[in-house]
Amino acid sequence: MLLFKLADLLEANFIFSRGVFGQDFAERARQREQFMNNPTPCSSKITYRTKDEDAQLDSALFYFSASSVDAMAHKVIDETSGVEGLHATAQWAALRNEGIDAPTELPSVLVNFDYICDGLIEAGHGQVHCLACNKVYMTSELTRDTHLAGGWLIDDFKCPAQHKLMSREVAHFMFRRNYD
Ligand SMILES: [Zn+2]
Repeated sequence: MLLFKLADLLEANFIFSRGVFGQDFAERARQREQFMNNPTPCSSKITYRTKDEDAQLDSALFYFSASSVDAMAHKVIDETSGVEGLHATAQWAALRNEGIDAPTELPSVLVNFDYICDGLIEAGHGQVHCLACNKVYMTSELTRDTHLAGGWLIDDFKCPAQHKLMSREVAHFMFRRNYD
C-alpha cells in the first residue's frame, strides 16, 4: 500500500520537475532548436561527463558508441512520455560520422541524458572512467543503489570502489514497471 502512495507522489513530482510549468522549459526548448538548426558534429563515440552533487567536480566520463545512443534514445522515448530533450539527442546521434573515432562530448543543451545512460548501463553498453579511481570500467561492472530522497526514488550507479558515478531520479513509469 505504501508503494502505491509513493507512486502517486512520484508522478506529481515528475510532472512538476520536468518543467511543464517551469520557467526554463521554453528557453531550453529554444536553445535546443537553435542547436539542431546548426548542430556540432557527432563522431562514432559519445562521451557523457557527470558531476558530483554540488555540480562542481567531475565524477566520471562515460563512453558509448553513437549508434547505441541513437538506438537507446528511441527505446527510452518509446517507453516514456514527454521527457524533455530526448528527441534532440536521438536526432543528433543519428547525424553521426562513423568515420571519425575521436569521441565527441555530449553537448550540454541535450538535457536528460541520464535516462539514456541508465538504459545503456542496463543493456551492458559502454565503458566509464571513474575519476576518483582513475580507472576505466565496463558499465556492466557498476552497481545500482536505489534509495529514497526527498520524495524521489533515486538510482545511484557506483564503481566497484563505491564511488558514485551517476544518479538518476526514477520516474513513476520506472517505479511501476519495477515494483508492480
Ligand atoms: Zn571509482
